[in-house]
Amino acid sequence: MMDAPLQVSRILEHGASVHGAAEVVTWTGAGPRRTSYAEVGRQAARLAHALREECGVTGDERVATLMWNNTEHLVAYFAVPSMGAVLHTLNIRLFPDQLTYIANHAEDRVVLVDSTLVPLLARVIGELTTVRHVVVVGGGDPAPLVAAAGDRITVHRWDDLLAGRPERYDWPEVDERDAAALCYTSGTTGNPKGVAYSHRSIYLHSLQICVPEGFGLGPTDRELAIVPMFHAMSWGLPYAAFLCGASLVMPDRFLQAAPIAEMIATERPTLAGAVPTIWNDLLAYLDSHDMDTSSLREVIVGGSACPPALMHAFAERHGIDVIHAWGMTETSPLGSVARPPAGATGDEAWRYRYTQGRVPAGVTARIVGPAGEPLPADGTSVGELEVRGPWVTARYVGEEKPDPAKFRDGWLRTGDVGTLSPDGFITLTDRAKDVIKSGGEWISSVELENALMAHPDVQEACVVGVPDQRWDERPLATVVVREGASVTAEELREFLATSVARWQLPERWAFIDAVPKTSVGKFDKKVVRSRYADGAFDVRELAGP
Ligand code: AMP
Repeated sequence: MMDAPLQVSRILEHGASVHGAAEVVTWTGAGPRRTSYAEVGRQAARLAHALREECGVTGDERVATLMWNNTEHLVAYFAVPSMGAVLHTLNIRLFPDQLTYIANHAEDRVVLVDSTLVPLLARVIGELTTVRHVVVVGGGDPAPLVAAAGDRITVHRWDDLLAGRPERYDWPEVDERDAAALCYTSGTTGNPKGVAYSHRSIYLHSLQICVPEGFGLGPTDRELAIVPMFHAMSWGLPYAAFLCGASLVMPDRFLQAAPIAEMIATERPTLAGAVPTIWNDLLAYLDSHDMDTSSLREVIVGGSACPPALMHAFAERHGIDVIHAWGMTETSPLGSVARPPAGATGDEAWRYRYTQGRVPAGVTARIVGPAGEPLPADGTSVGELEVRGPWVTARYVGEEKPDPAKFRDGWLRTGDVGTLSPDGFITLTDRAKDVIKSGGEWISSVELENALMAHPDVQEACVVGVPDQRWDERPLATVVVREGASVTAEELREFLATSVARWQLPERWAFIDAVPKTSVGKFDKKVVRSRYADGAFDVRELAGP
């Protein structure tokens, strides 16, 4: 066989030619903005010329993006790796000192920034020691940035920079194992860590997104990519879409339930992907507004455990299939997708759909005990999940050797706890650091949350372990009550008692306005624990076990 390297530029050329009529639609607040894949290909060539000729980008230098999900971000996704440089997606929701840390750690040379995010970049630009050029995308006033950037940095406008440049670029041949893109973990403990995706891993991962066992993305699909392009590469959807010719609908900064519902009704996506909190908000909106969501074939939910109640509500009230998936920044991110095996129907099929899903051929999984000893894949032995495969990172950027806290004998230690069935389905009970250790027994915070969120008056529920004199740790339930509803701690505890063992029932309850979220929209349990420690919650304590 020929030894053709698996390159991002190949995905770009294929999508821009064979699927040149497919489109990326960006939501603007004043109607959609449409660009064909053929035009994305031309803009990618222009951007690559500009980066090389005006910004001096060579070799594997890093070009960062501080952008929403939109057309120009997609252009950067292809231009930067295709020219041999490395795309670094900056998380717009990180604290300024974390943003500074990752941009300096990655040694970013150029930053592409949406004009709506100029104030954010202006706040940190003075600290970004390696940046030499900033490119502002869209209208808006770049003056604050120019003032803050000083002489060291040249500020360009995207339109001016790309104008008149050639529509073709002679994409170089690169080693398929070279880095193409860089994404940092969200860093809820310690500094964020960098994961470098290679051309090869991106290519193989994109194929997996497209097969029916993955997301089943194909040329007749329109994918609403809500998951941010700075969070685990938007789950690989942009690259997979170009590979198979699916069109993309990009929400830009319009991430509230109302505009998302409008995008679904008017742009008629067939697939969509986002974390559970987005779907939870959308569900509440759809329940009270008559919107046409009939185009949606499936929605993929991952990033945190998807409460079964959310899946049933979408299926039963809106005819939408919620597909549960698991992954990490470290796994590109597709790790497993919950599609029931042949022959499973009714309740049995639902039980498969509640799991985190089945691993594909590209991901090998095992469960290990406390000393790292492999446990049987029998669906009942509980331990830490470890994975390996061609799109799983082997170490973090800048590390000489894999950190033993995160890697063991060529396996990635996920920090997730659960079981693995003989037919490859992963069921996670919790993050190792979130499991509640009560009197020598373990309580799954996720199980309590799922059970609570099945109550009709509960909008969101986050459960964390808090110190307890007698039991070491006990669960604290923080609950957001649905608008217009009212419910007491006693009532919720009785409701929980119908599905959870009595000794696991929380005695500490706090009703709150919103669960604090991380930079990628997950429940921020660290913040919940520290707010509790600071006495910030009005806690009601019922009798203990
Ligand atoms: P991130 O790198 O930010 O995407 O975080 C990865 C982590 O998110 C995993 O290690 C899990 O703890 C969590 N996660 C992702 N998907 C799921 C899921 N379907 N169920 C439970 N946890 C999940």
